Amino acid sequence: MVRYYCPYCNPKYQFQKQSSKGILICGLCGEDLVKKPFIRLNQIIALVAASSLLLPLIYTFIFLIKNQINPPNKNYQANSILTLFIKETIS
Ligand SMILES: [Zn+2]
Repeated sequence: MVRYYCPYCNPKYQFQKQSSKGILICGLCGEDLVKKPFIRLNQIIALVAASSLLLPLIYTFIFLIKNQINPPNKNYQANSILTLFIKETIS
């Protein structure tokens, strides 16, 4: 649940009111209420979002480097068969 507060009034005497437009306003001064910042929650969400984007990228990067250092045997075999086939068709 998101809590709202008025940045201008004393938090002790604040009460929420709903304006005719359906927006929450301060009962004392009539200003629009501001969402209370949940810095820790936001940081956790940002961290999860960033890691969910970055982890697959890092994983694919490592996988690509690994494949370039030792290419998998499957590809090598496929290539050698192809070169054999080409040699046979030429000769
Ligand atoms: Zn206020």
